[in-house]
Amino acid sequence: MNPVIALVGRPNVGKSTLFNRLTKTRDALVADFPGLTRDRKYGTGKVGGKPYTVIDTGGISGDEEGIDLMMAGQSLAAIDEADIVLFMVDARAGLNMADEAIANHLRVNQKKTWLVVNKTDGMDEEIGKSDFWTLGLGDPRAIAAEHGRNVTTLLEEVLSPYPEVEEDEDEDLHPELDDRGVRIGIIGRPNVGKSTLVNRLLGEERVVVYDQAGTTTDAVEIPFERRGKPYLLVDTAGIRRRKNVREVVEKFSIIKTLEAIKKCNVAVMVLDARQGLVEQDLHLLDFVLTSGRALVLVVNKWDGLESEAKEKMRSEIKRRLGFADYADLHFISALHGTAVGDLYPSIDRAFESAVARWSTKRLTTLLQDATQAHQPPMVNGRRIKLRMAHQGGANPPLIVVHGNQTNKLPEAYKRYLTNTFRKVLKVKGTPMRFEFRSGD
Ligand code: GDP
Ligand code: GDP
Repeated sequence: MNPVIALVGRPNVGKSTLFNRLTKTRDALVADFPGLTRDRKYGTGKVGGKPYTVIDTGGISGDEEGIDLMMAGQSLAAIDEADIVLFMVDARAGLNMADEAIANHLRVNQKKTWLVVNKTDGMDEEIGKSDFWTLGLGDPRAIAAEHGRNVTTLLEEVLSPYPEVEEDEDEDLHPELDDRGVRIGIIGRPNVGKSTLVNRLLGEERVVVYDQAGTTTDAVEIPFERRGKPYLLVDTAGIRRRKNVREVVEKFSIIKTLEAIKKCNVAVMVLDARQGLVEQDLHLLDFVLTSGRALVLVVNKWDGLESEAKEKMRSEIKRRLGFADYADLHFISALHGTAVGDLYPSIDRAFESAVARWSTKRLTTLLQDATQAHQPPMVNGRRIKLRMAHQGGANPPLIVVHGNQTNKLPEAYKRYLTNTFRKVLKVKGTPMRFEFRSGD
């Protein structure tokens, strides 16, 4: 797992400026975790062959009340998840009471903290740093996040204990199928029934779990076979192990969830029928959507509930998760094993859709049929023309459509095309992306 860097500091010291600089250089899986007053952001980046995850914590001042206090709680949670803390202060504003309050917290924290003095552009670095020695957090480092001054040097130093990572073992954002089978990631809030489901999936009669010399309980990937077909269960959060040594409180880790999403081919997102949809479900789902992963939605704890409740839940999901309507939805009871076996066909289909390949001929014919059934509109007296379609990528599928004036294509027409392609190509359980290119 990549080292996790948390950016901590009072508001306005330059955390998001630094976050943007640290994440902009590559195709980062960036997740937004909306807070009440400000988002907590997750992103990835790489310096000198070393990948890292970075969290912008939103900001704490040390004397919060009300909403601010909750936000501060989020920052503290981020510090807990981090391997490295960059504590940022502002050279222009000088030392501040809030800085001291945060420093007090970080001093008792065991984590590796670096004191980073930002906004030292246009000033002598030593003068910029001079205020902050009294914080007792070691040598201050002077940077200017906005201009990039000393940022790379700082990161190299901060990451020096961590190994370089070969290109191909790095951040495999889109793992393709290998002969070890489809990778299934079970994600969801604490207590929705993930570990019950995992044990149910692995404990099923027709499932053969391969014990890797007694390491299965700690393994991140658990291989198993069902009806002769291989699968891998991705268990970055240790949900399998938890069943055996029942942990009292599970600390919910966004980092581990992101890791599971990244490592799996299909994310199985578990919701709790007894609690309905809550804010955190939506955030988790947002991670899945951002990642482009194939998805199966599961409403668990269905036992003992009336069938009207099912309709209610279904319509609530439809209303609030409309953006994830490509995913199959299952109502199960992990505890009793009801409908759990039905997940496999959905998982298989979602994965097959995600990595499917279609010929240019097939896609172009489909495009022509669709435009014949419904012509694109006229713009400035000229009809928008869509001539050719080809596949630009897989997992998730990307369809590139070529034509004229495609930048004028109305959203409604794009939706019509998307739906038609989905239906005809029988794409289920994966997002599908379209790109329109214009010859004029
Ligand atoms: P955050 O609230 O800690 O995330 O702070 P922001 O990243 O939003 O930055 C607050 C303000 O400081 C913005 O106006 C930035 O443009 C400015 N700022 C950030 N980094 C630098 C820097 O290196 N030098 C200067 N002069 N201004 C900066
Ligand atoms: P996790 O934190 O998401 O791994 O959740 P657990 O698997 O530990 O389950 C949390 C609680 O919900 C436990 O008390 C389970 O027994 C209970 N639970 C799990 N699945 C079901 C189910 O299908 N029906 C009911 N009624 N309870 C369930």
